[in-house]
Amino acid sequence: MGKYIAALDQGTTSSRAVIFDEKGAFVASHAIEFPQIYPKPGWVEHDPEQIYQSQVKALKMAVQKSGVNAKDILAVGVTNQRETTIVWEKATGKPVMNAIVWQCRRTAPLVERLKKDGLGNTIRDRTGLIPDAYFSGTKLQWILDTIDDARKRAENGELIFGTVDTYLVWRLTNGKAHVTDATNASRTMLFNIREQAWDDVLLRAMNIPKRMLPEVVDSSQIVGVIDKEILGVEIPIAAMAGDQHAALYGQGCFVPGMAKNTYGTGCFVLMNTGARPVNSRNNLVTTVAWRLDGKPTYALEGSVFVAGAAIQWLRDEMKMIETAAETNEIASSVPDNGGVYLVPAFTGLGAPHWDMYARGTIVGLTRGAGRAHVVRATLESIAYQSEDVLGAMINDSGIRMEMLRVDGGASNNDFLMQYQADILGANVMRPQVTETTALGAAMLAGRAAGLWDDGALKNIWQPEKCFKPQMPALEREKQLRQWKRAVEKAKSWAEE
Ligand code: ADP
Repeated sequence: MGKYIAALDQGTTSSRAVIFDEKGAFVASHAIEFPQIYPKPGWVEHDPEQIYQSQVKALKMAVQKSGVNAKDILAVGVTNQRETTIVWEKATGKPVMNAIVWQCRRTAPLVERLKKDGLGNTIRDRTGLIPDAYFSGTKLQWILDTIDDARKRAENGELIFGTVDTYLVWRLTNGKAHVTDATNASRTMLFNIREQAWDDVLLRAMNIPKRMLPEVVDSSQIVGVIDKEILGVEIPIAAMAGDQHAALYGQGCFVPGMAKNTYGTGCFVLMNTGARPVNSRNNLVTTVAWRLDGKPTYALEGSVFVAGAAIQWLRDEMKMIETAAETNEIASSVPDNGGVYLVPAFTGLGAPHWDMYARGTIVGLTRGAGRAHVVRATLESIAYQSEDVLGAMINDSGIRMEMLRVDGGASNNDFLMQYQADILGANVMRPQVTETTALGAAMLAGRAAGLWDDGALKNIWQPEKCFKPQMPALEREKQLRQWKRAVEKAKSWAEE
C-alpha cells in the first residue's frame, strides 16, 4: 500500500488530474475538455461551474484509472491557467458572470486609461508586470463597473474575487478557504511582489475593494481539505501555483540561472533569478516563481508568440509536411540551412525585439534552396527566438544560464533540441516526466505534506536525454549574426 499525490491541472481548454506515486512517478491521468465562450470578437469567457465540474470529474476518473484507494492519497496540489478572473457570492458560491479568461481583450481601454493616468511605471515597479489586459486587475475592475451593484456588494463583503486556483479551492473546501498563492497573486496586477502584499495604490487606481481579495499564502502549504463528498475521504490541499510556475518547479529549476522552456504553439520561457526580483530592460515580466516558508523566489518570464504554430503552418498552409514529427528527419537530411532563414513573425515580434509591425519573412533563397532547407529554417527559428528571450534574461539579470530544461510537444524533436543546445552554447535537458506542470504541483504538495524533503525533491527530476552543444563558437556567432540580420528584414513590414 503506497502513498500517492494528486495534481489538479486546470488549463485553458481542459481540466486534467494526474496521480503520482511516492517516488514522483506517473501513475494515471484523465483530462476533460470544456467549452470556450466567445461573446464578441476578442472576448473569451469560461463558465466557472464547467471549470469546477470538469475538474472534479477529471480527479474522480484519474483516481479510478489509477486503481488507488482515495485514502492513500496524501495530498492534492492545484495548478491553473493564470489571470482568469471570477467574482462570486460569498453566501451561495454563485458567480455574478462568467469567468473572464486571460486571453480576453475587453479591458484594453481600461489599461490605456491607467497608462494615461501615469501609472505605467508604478505597475511595472510594484507588480513586475507590463500593464496589459491579460492580467486580472482590469478584468476585476470591469466586472465591478459593469454588473449592477457589484462594487457596493463587494464593499459589503457579499461578493469575493478569485483567480481559478482560488475559485477551485473555495469550491473544493466547501467555501472554507478563500486563498491564493503568491504566484497567482503576482499575475493580478494588484499584488506588490516586493512587499508580498496587495497594493493599496493599485487597488485605489482600479477602484477595487480590498475586502473582496483572497488571503495570499505560500505555494506549498496546507490550506484546507477536499470535502468528503468528492472522494469519500477528506484530503489536504497542500499546494497552489500558476501553471508556468509549477512547470518551473516540476523541471527542478531550484537554483538561480536554471531555466525551462515549454515548446508548444508558442514558447513559454522562465528563468529562476533567486531571492531578488530583477527589473527587465527588455520588457520581460518579473514574477514570483514560488513562495516557500514565507520566502519568495523570483523568475523572469518571456514568451515566443509563434513556435510550434510555425510547424503547423508548414503542414496546413504550405503543405510542405504531413506531420509535425517528420520535420526532424527532413531537417537532418541537409547538412545545414543553406543560408535560408525564416522569421515566423506572423503576428509581430515579442521580446526582445518588440515590433508589432514585423511580419513573416524568408531570406537567403538561392536556386539550390529546397523544401528541406525551408523546413530546417523553420525549426531553427524556434531555437533562435528562444535564444533571443533567454539572452534578454541573461542580460537583464547578469546571471549565467546553467542549463535549459525543456517540455511541450515540439521538445520531442531531437533536431530542434540539438540545435537549441548549439545556439545557446548550453546543455538542453529533456526530462523523463514531461507532464512538468502537474508534476510541479504534486511536488509542491508532497513537500507540504511531509512526503518529500529538499533532497528527495531534487531526485524526482530525471533526464531522458541531454543535448550538449557541439557547434564551434565561431559558427554559432555567425549563425546568430545571420539570424539578427534576417530579423531586421522582417521588421516594420506591416503598414497601419
Ligand atoms: P499546446 O499545449 O500549445 O497546444 P503542445 O505542447 O501540445 O502545444 O505542442 C503542440 C505543438 O508542437 C504544435 O504546434 C506542433 O506543431 C508542435 N509539435 C509537436 N510535435 C512536434 C515535433 N515532433 N516537432 C516539431 N514540432 C512539433
